[in-house]
Amino acid sequence: MELWYTERQTPYAGITCLVRETLCHFRTPYQELAVIDTVQYGRMLVLDGMVQTTEQDEFVYHEMIVHVAMQAHPDPRHVLVVGGGDGGAIREVLKYPSVESATLVEIDEAVINAAKEYLPAIAGALDDPRVRVLVADGIQHVRENQGKYDCIFVDSTEPVGPAVGLFAEEFYAGIYRALKKDGLFVAQTESPFFNRDLIKKVFARISRVFPLVKLYLASVPTYPSGLWSFTAGSKCYDPETGAGRPVMTRYYNAEVHQGAFRLPVFVRELLEDS
Ligand code: SAM
Repeated sequence: MELWYTERQTPYAGITCLVRETLCHFRTPYQELAVIDTVQYGRMLVLDGMVQTTEQDEFVYHEMIVHVAMQAHPDPRHVLVVGGGDGGAIREVLKYPSVESATLVEIDEAVINAAKEYLPAIAGALDDPRVRVLVADGIQHVRENQGKYDCIFVDSTEPVGPAVGLFAEEFYAGIYRALKKDGLFVAQTESPFFNRDLIKKVFARISRVFPLVKLYLASVPTYPSGLWSFTAGSKCYDPETGAGRPVMTRYYNAEVHQGAFRLPVFVRELLEDS
């Protein structure tokens, strides 16, 4: 008998994958966690029924959430990832020799442990000596760590449960204070097809906190609609600039960096109204 995993990405559409094996499936204090081995996308981390990362397409998302800001900042040394318990964003951050410390603040330790056990190619960098892993609420962390970071990445789940506060204006103000005077941050901000209202609201919230705000896109096959957005807030450096430092990647390069900010009409219009 075939077993298929289906994520209902909206009440009317979703993604479905043929499953080879369920590697783990349990409830953590924060969410339902599963790692399944799928024929099409390899191993897949699923939280509360939503695809978080897969072996086959994770490089797109993790490269695009990290390298745009790490290239726009001339000398990123101290970096924070909020969420990101699968370790993929940290792995990309550590590709820069300038990085002296990479701090991961993940609220659910079970995600870190499951990623280390079942997704070593994504989570392996978490054991790097430059990495500090904190099991904590990212909202609290930015409140208590002002002026510390050159780049911050908000690699959160969808705005549900403990992640709701990671999309609030107060959190973005906390991010602003946690950044150094020339810092910048990037948040994953969902799908321009399925989450238009959220993207508009978040863009407006970040625009009230940061002098420079830009949205860019990437195609992530296993995320809702396959088109994903990232919103960058910067104190001084333009997120569109800087691409050029050599870095080993499979999706990101200088042309992709530039192109990601060339927005389709319907996305540009979305931001004009925000
Ligand atoms: N790349 C994925 C995406 O775009 O959907 C997200 C990757 S990662 C698995 C998301 C993580 O955010 C989860 O492990 C979740 O536990 C964590 N998270 C949610 N709310 C948080 C909070 N307030 N503080 C820290 N981590 C949080």
